[in-house]
Amino acid sequence: MKGIITTTEEKKEAPDGIWNKCPNCKKPLHYSEQVENQYVCHYCGYHLRIGSKEYFAVLFDNNEFTELFPDLTSGDPLHFEDTKKYTDRLTETQFKTGLKDAIRAGVGKIDGQDLVIACMDFNFIGGSMGSVVGEKIARSIDYCIANKVPFLMISKSGGARMMEAAFSLMQMAKTSAKLALLSQAKIPYISLLTDPTTGGVTASYAMLGDINIAEPGALIGFAGPRVIKETIKKDLPKGFQTAEFVQEHGFLDFIVDRREMKEKLASFIKMMAN
Ligand SMILES: [Zn+2]
Repeated sequence: MKGIITTTEEKKEAPDGIWNKCPNCKKPLHYSEQVENQYVCHYCGYHLRIGSKEYFAVLFDNNEFTELFPDLTSGDPLHFEDTKKYTDRLTETQFKTGLKDAIRAGVGKIDGQDLVIACMDFNFIGGSMGSVVGEKIARSIDYCIANKVPFLMISKSGGARMMEAAFSLMQMAKTSAKLALLSQAKIPYISLLTDPTTGGVTASYAMLGDINIAEPGALIGFAGPRVIKETIKKDLPKGFQTAEFVQEHGFLDFIVDRREMKEKLASFIKMMAN
């Protein structure tokens, strides 16, 4: 009871999140070691879930980039309310995460070559795809076409944002159409699927890369396993909806360890540019 009813002010702070437990092997990981190891557990190779800030630091040369369209925020076209008002949920989440929505885009260099990266943040309402996510992707693609720069999309999402209903679903068509224009302009598009990539994100831009790659062990799927099981009335195979299973069945080109990601991406971009 004592632990449960302790007020926040009385709680002892662990020394600023310096230690973290690996969710897979449960061994303690020191923060500085995590950063050094690109947030991969050095005991078991588990890829910790990270956000746009960390991916930009891992991929952009010297962590130097210019953020694109940083001030886009969501409206509330449906005046949606569940346990709380959507507008309140947005304000709270923005305050808690320091993010404006579930995606950030930036332009910078990777191994000396120009690249635009749009990266989703799972911390922001489950990385849900709403109008801001779709719009930032669309504008990033416009930027890539205007400046002839390759596009990398890093997906991490629970799917469409239900608080925006049909406005979320429209983003699937919008981003797919923009990617078709990018393809016509012969500019490379690399899609990186990370843990987890599901729902409408999988069903649109995440699977439309010139190459589709994933991090090891990532959950990748469209509908949840229970829904599928009830629909097909069969047990699902082992490892179903892991990156490895999805690759085996032809949806992914390859799986890349995050520690080798930058080098691999840079070499693809070089190859495609030539
Ligand atoms: Zn581990």
